[in-house]
Amino acid sequence: SGILAIVGRPNVGKSTIFNRIIGERKSIVEDIPGVTRDRIYGKAEWLTKEFRVIDTGGIQLADQPFRDEINMQVEIAIDEADVILFVVSGKDGITMDDEYIARLLQKSRKPIVLAVNKVDDFSQNDAIYEFYNLGLGDPIAVSAAHGIGTGDMLDEIVKAFPDKQQKEYEGMTRFCLIGRPNVGKSSLVNAILNQERVIVSDIEGTTRDAIDTPFKREGKDYVVIDTAGIRKKGKVYENIEKYSVLRAMAAIERSDVVLVVIDGETGIRDQDKHVAGYAHEAGKGVIIVYNKWDAVDKDEQTMQKIEKEIRAQFLYLSYAPILFVSALKKQRIHTLLPAIDEVHDYSVLRIQTNVLNEVIMDAQLMTPPPTHKGKRLKIYYASQVSVAPPTIVLFVNDPELLHFSYKRYLENCLRDAFAFTGTTIRILARERN
Ligand code: GDP
Repeated sequence: SGILAIVGRPNVGKSTIFNRIIGERKSIVEDIPGVTRDRIYGKAEWLTKEFRVIDTGGIQLADQPFRDEINMQVEIAIDEADVILFVVSGKDGITMDDEYIARLLQKSRKPIVLAVNKVDDFSQNDAIYEFYNLGLGDPIAVSAAHGIGTGDMLDEIVKAFPDKQQKEYEGMTRFCLIGRPNVGKSSLVNAILNQERVIVSDIEGTTRDAIDTPFKREGKDYVVIDTAGIRKKGKVYENIEKYSVLRAMAAIERSDVVLVVIDGETGIRDQDKHVAGYAHEAGKGVIIVYNKWDAVDKDEQTMQKIEKEIRAQFLYLSYAPILFVSALKKQRIHTLLPAIDEVHDYSVLRIQTNVLNEVIMDAQLMTPPPTHKGKRLKIYYASQVSVAPPTIVLFVNDPELLHFSYKRYLENCLRDAFAFTGTTIRILARERN
């Protein structure tokens, strides 16, 4: 799946269009501050194609000239997106800012879809012809407020996505490092890449700028997916929290395994939890990396104590392995790639149906599901329907009877049997018919 970025000057209706595109689908994580509250990142689906959407208008520079803000938004769109939706207003006609944005976009080689919004009266849509002058191809008339024309616009968007996007870095283990600024993400990337037997490859023809780094080790292919500022430090907007969270989200989507980096010097902060929560929600493999271990005052108990604290703070990540490393002193850096391999293997593990059913049936015998309103859940059959994350469907008498606590019990039984280290397990119930 790819990324669509929406750009345009203020008040042309970007957020209305954004909301139309993501539809009624709730954005994925409700409690990540800055991103979902203002809804600048979401998932969309059209004609069986899935893609992510960024509303760049939601990323703002404090106290900066308006043009700088436009520059930043367009730059982010060009950096991040596979397709750009440029929104203008049919009510206002072409403005100087529209022309300015159009010129910036023309220089990029990204496919652009031009939407003329606020065309509320479709019998009078001659107004759109003037927008041919922007030199960006056919304008599409829409009225986001009334939901008119958005279907045609989505058709064009979906057509503009490159087909090969699906197979990005096929056969390689894709991972990213996320975490607050200064936790040591770039230092860790460098430490990983500078290990013995790691050979950084030069791969041509990837669709993005050379900010992802493919490499090989012992015949295995990996790629470090860049998050804000790992490889290319120094962009003005890189430290805007909203942007770095958004960037992390985009990187997570493109990764198989996510390393959640915590700064051992400062300890766990709320922001660490928000981004980690997203990795969990996205169903990716997760490893918690406690960096700057060299800077921690320690005795024999410290590691256990910190592990306990991490478990308590990241309750939902109980399945994630924890590694203690130092990028600076190169301590235990060699444990990272094997852990990534292990977690990736588990996240794509397929359990044979008969083995899976044995485990589920045994679990059911050992601890039968509790009754609910006089009815008891009965699991007839289990089937693993997909991987990454492993997703198991239980065929039952009544899906409503599968309660959270019993689901968790089943998950524990599955982990006892198959470990599934580093990956969430999805368990769904369907009525057997
Ligand atoms: P990023 O913003 O997460 O990419 O963090 P950087 O890799 O730029 O590191 C931020 C600061 O932390 C730099 O001054 C690093 O030298 C320092 N740092 C990184 N890793 C370690 C470590 O393992 N131990 C110590 N003591 N400092 C580290």
